[in-house]
Amino acid sequence: MDSATSLPFTLSPNASPVTAQQRAQILANPGFGRVFTDNMVVIRYQEGRGWHDARVQPFAPLALNPACAVLHYAQEIFEGMKAYRTAESGITLFRPYANAARFAKSAARLAMPEVPEEVFVEAVRQLVRVDHAWVPGKPDESLYIRPFMIANETFLGVKPASEYLFMVIASPVGAYFGEEAVSVWVSDFCRAAPGGTGEAKCGGNYAASLLAQQEAKGHGCAQVLFLDAVERRWIEEMGGMNVFFVFDDGSLATPPLTGTILRGITRDSLLTLARAQGLTVREEPYAIDQLYADAASGRLKEVFACGTAAVVSPIGRFRGPKGDAVVGKGQGIGPVTAKLRSALIAIQRGTAPDPHNWVEKVI
Ligand SMILES: *Cc1c(COP(=O)(O)O)cnc(C)c1O
Repeated sequence: MDSATSLPFTLSPNASPVTAQQRAQILANPGFGRVFTDNMVVIRYQEGRGWHDARVQPFAPLALNPACAVLHYAQEIFEGMKAYRTAESGITLFRPYANAARFAKSAARLAMPEVPEEVFVEAVRQLVRVDHAWVPGKPDESLYIRPFMIANETFLGVKPASEYLFMVIASPVGAYFGEEAVSVWVSDFCRAAPGGTGEAKCGGNYAASLLAQQEAKGHGCAQVLFLDAVERRWIEEMGGMNVFFVFDDGSLATPPLTGTILRGITRDSLLTLARAQGLTVREEPYAIDQLYADAASGRLKEVFACGTAAVVSPIGRFRGPKGDAVVGKGQGIGPVTAKLRSALIAIQRGTAPDPHNWVEKVI
């Protein structure tokens, strides 16, 4: 049934997982997104039959027909979330239903079937349970979880596919960036236009952003900042992170959700935490020329990027065709950024109370 809100899972996990010793070696220096746990979740969809055949099975390459729709027309969406090891050696997820809800919205935009929220979260729980030993325990470390869906019909005609695979894989990760402020390239390329897919978490958005990212690297920058596609004036977001500005009056601003920006769960959480800290927060458009002026005048004190992977990362410098702007001293993490970052991490790691019920215990 399409409307099934839960599915039975068949558990056939990896019979020869890596040894505890090999795993310990991998966890000593996991990097980001290069090593994966012993298992994965696969759930199939077929038009008329709905979601079925949910399995926890060994992590392994897929066999895809070369005419498989996703390989040609990029009908693909994904999510990014993390499992954390808590001080009491439990394992938790952070706002997993928010990821499930966003995944359903992305699916609708890409004309894909929605995975019921409960099935999405249960799939994540199943993988975390079976691969619990892969959740690293040091501060800044976590198990990065990647749910995704691909069009799996063998057909070269252009139409929404009739078959899909929903999968969940996981990768132990260390810190993404440090606390050192990064430089950001203000790109002439656009990431998303009104009416496009900017609000959907789809692989195609990333494919379109890679040339800008490459250009940024060429200019000595770690990340790209995209402006709006209509006026090329308003700051939107980074390639994979939302952005916040901190001003000399202590207030914060972040670009509003107008349909071309990804609705970050970190962004939403930080808005809530900032308001709880008594800060004034505005969701309002901010022009790139104003950023250059405010950086020069000293009105702009701190800038940071945020997202699940990097959590909260300070930005020290903007470079672009219109010149350079240095934020604050151009290095280190500012006090407002640092306080928000610690508040978020404390809730995620279970070292602070969770007044918003964001944390879901898995084990
Ligand atoms: C995933 C993503 C973010 C951050 O979202 P979180 O839910 O905070 O991880 C921001 N921008 C883009 C383009 C993204 O893909």
